[in-house]
Amino acid sequence: MSTLSATNKARQTVLGYPVDIVDEPLALEIVESAWRSGKRLQIVTLNAEMVVAAQQDRELDRIIRHAHLIIPDGAGIVWALRLAGQSVERLAGIDLAAAALARAAAAGRRVALVGGKPDVLDRLVGLLPRMHPGLNVVASRDGYFSSDEEEAVVEALSKAEPELLLVALGVPKQEYFIDRWQTAFPKAVIAGVGGSFDVWAGASRRAPLIMRRLHLEWLYRLVTEPWRWKRIGSALPNFFWQVVREFVSRRRKSQAPDRSREG
Ligand code: UDP
Repeated sequence: MSTLSATNKARQTVLGYPVDIVDEPLALEIVESAWRSGKRLQIVTLNAEMVVAAQQDRELDRIIRHAHLIIPDGAGIVWALRLAGQSVERLAGIDLAAAALARAAAAGRRVALVGGKPDVLDRLVGLLPRMHPGLNVVASRDGYFSSDEEEAVVEALSKAEPELLLVALGVPKQEYFIDRWQTAFPKAVIAGVGGSFDVWAGASRRAPLIMRRLHLEWLYRLVTEPWRWKRIGSALPNFFWQVVREFVSRRRKSQAPDRSREG
């Protein structure tokens, strides 16, 4: 039995992509269970933009489908699941990663970090043990290395035998990286965490709590980081219409008269 199926509540789909209906305690239980059994656990934090990107990117498509734990990170994913009748709350990747760091610190588990600008990572390596007393950061590397350097970077990280590996290279770079090198980390819980290092190091800010509660973190990011319009601007409406189309077509099918009973 896989680590996930031992504890998983339910796996649903959004536009054909798997999503696990997990809240933070359950996701942490899955993380702890992977640590106890010494198995690798790959976590994907799914959002609408990723789904649309994966529809045009076979690699990303495969990586998402093969992840062990796929959390409902994006407001669009939660909206689509709720439209389909699921009761689900958003679980932001950055929150799960912070909670996993806290658990790792409490249990003295080895943590490795890869990604972020050199100064951000430096600051983070100093700050994280203050945020999570007892945290054991065994290896770290900024995210600005060349493809020629990549193997050596992975070797150094792998030698430290991390049990938690956070990869902050942005989507889809971090997903490709994790997929390429996963076997070098056979006992690690591995997650792509996007811009989390910037937030933790104070280089960027998260949306105010009220916006997060209203599921508007994406809007805050669009306003404060306007360059995201190019990336997100077409992906979000595309996702929205696909979900609505799927919903309408499902409803039509379920409301169609059952012709097998006629006559
Ligand atoms: N980054 C990196 N190496 C790269 C490109 C990006 O380490 O080659 C880092 C960047 O410094 C930032 C993070 O990846 O900390 C991407 O953050 P973003 O918020 O854009 O993530 P996403 O929205 O893709 O989840």
